[in-house]
Amino acid sequence: MDKLAVLDSNVMQKSLRQEIAANKSDANLTTGQNKFGDNRDTYEKRMYLIASDSYHASAQNPTDVELASRSETWTRLLFNIIPEKMLKACFDEAFKNHEGVFPVSAYELKDAWQAVKDRERERIIASRRALPDAAASACTHCFGTGMWNPDGRGMRNGCPHPIGK
Ligand SMILES: [Zn+2]
Repeated sequence: MDKLAVLDSNVMQKSLRQEIAANKSDANLTTGQNKFGDNRDTYEKRMYLIASDSYHASAQNPTDVELASRSETWTRLLFNIIPEKMLKACFDEAFKNHEGVFPVSAYELKDAWQAVKDRERERIIASRRALPDAAASACTHCFGTGMWNPDGRGMRNGCPHPIGK
């Protein structure tokens, strides 16, 4: 490396250090809970495990400092975006979609959370669609056929499946 490059990288590292320090004081201001009710301390601990997975999945052996730095940064970026209990699922999702030898990034975790949320939304919509069918099969008037004879004038379609009545 020539002198200029060394100087550049020193300047870069210094400004990076300053940035990290600034972010640290930011982070200290936002200790406590996120909008999901997660505690920042436990969140960062769980993130540490995720960060560790991200390195090891790429066959990298990080130092404790690297791990702590990554989990702190990722916590700061994602604390109010991904709920703690979904971090592992998001990492698994991100890893599934990940290509290349570089570790999974915070961006990929964020995208994974969007994908997990979309899927969950579709699942809820689908289960709502399935609900009338479930109600039908539990119906003691028509046993799922939809046919009923509410007034004695003959069997016909249109049972509203009044469960338990
Ligand atoms: Zn019915």
